[in-house]
Amino acid sequence: MDQYSILGRIGEGAHGIVFKAKHIETGQTVAMKKVALRRSEEGIPNQALREIKALQEIQDNPYVVRLKEVFPHGTGFVLVFDFMLSDLSEVIRNTQRPLTQSQVKGYMMMLLKGVAFLHHNNIMHRDLKPANLLISSSGHLKIADFGLARLFSSQQQRLYSHQVATRWYRAPELLYGARKYDEGVDLWAVGCVFGELVNSSPLFPGENDIEQLCCVLRVLGTPTLETWPEMVELPDYNKITFKENPALPLDDLVPDSSPQAVSLLSSFLVYPPKQRCPAAKALLHPYFFTPPLPAHHSELPIPPPPRQRSQAPPTHFSVHLPLENSLVDPVLLRHHAPCL
Ligand code: ADP
Ligand code: MG
Repeated sequence: MDQYSILGRIGEGAHGIVFKAKHIETGQTVAMKKVALRRSEEGIPNQALREIKALQEIQDNPYVVRLKEVFPHGTGFVLVFDFMLSDLSEVIRNTQRPLTQSQVKGYMMMLLKGVAFLHHNNIMHRDLKPANLLISSSGHLKIADFGLARLFSSQQQRLYSHQVATRWYRAPELLYGARKYDEGVDLWAVGCVFGELVNSSPLFPGENDIEQLCCVLRVLGTPTLETWPEMVELPDYNKITFKENPALPLDDLVPDSSPQAVSLLSSFLVYPPKQRCPAAKALLHPYFFTPPLPAHHSELPIPPPPRQRSQAPPTHFSVHLPLENSLVDPVLLRHHAPCL
């Protein structure tokens, strides 16, 4: 710690405080994330260790933030990263006009390359959202915040927590309480980020967990046994019933986008996780090969100067709204879902 001088605080999220600092000897600017080391009831090492382990396995990819070093500090750890100028939420918020089609393609290409790399290495991020996609001074997008990342196995023997992913980007199976899930949760989030890039506003901005599900259902239509057969196995399937609602054409969700953009978006926003288009395959979608072509990173907007960045809704969130106060369309709760 003595080798660095702290220049200021740049972020504070669910899992740690992030400082801007300077390496005294080299003069390099870095981001330092201080994370406390806690253990959950089951004795599983907490997010800090998860983040370190996941990051160490996937270094040297241009679309993943570089972890320069890790050292113990106080009761926890300090993670030292390359300093990034901004994040995608700032880019979306600060653009004077909507991003151009080729800029959106440029960001999506980098995001998908990063996600394809993670999934290839059996890592699911579980908290993809604009605030966790950092932007370098050269315009590169880098996936950050591996606090919720998990190694996954194709056998799927493990049970995971469903309280992952910031609500607006949370896949429907998580909203229905799934404890067994896969990298499809990241692909859903990729779809949400894509829509947000196109619209400059979030696709599904639910104010609580039930409303979140309603936002999704309003667009995709109420899931049925035909559209989502595995839904019946989800823990909260029986706890909540929505009135039947047809799907909207996705063009309505992202007006003014090209048919290819709508087609790519619809390949992520599907109920059955296994049917969501894998990142590596999405990179081959005609969307990326139809003019206007993806912008080069040097053509992407210059990120706004760093400042204290505001946070999107917290990652772990479970609001117990009395139903009469919720903004939900008529909803029948068969039992009061504890997690909804
Ligand atoms: P948390 O788990 O607390 O959300 P993050 O790793 O997402 O932690 O960091 C919180 C915020 O700090 C980010 O949204 C970003 O604004 C800022 N930040 C994180 N890492 C860096 C970095 N390497 N360079 C610049 N800013 C960063
Ligand atoms: Mg974060």
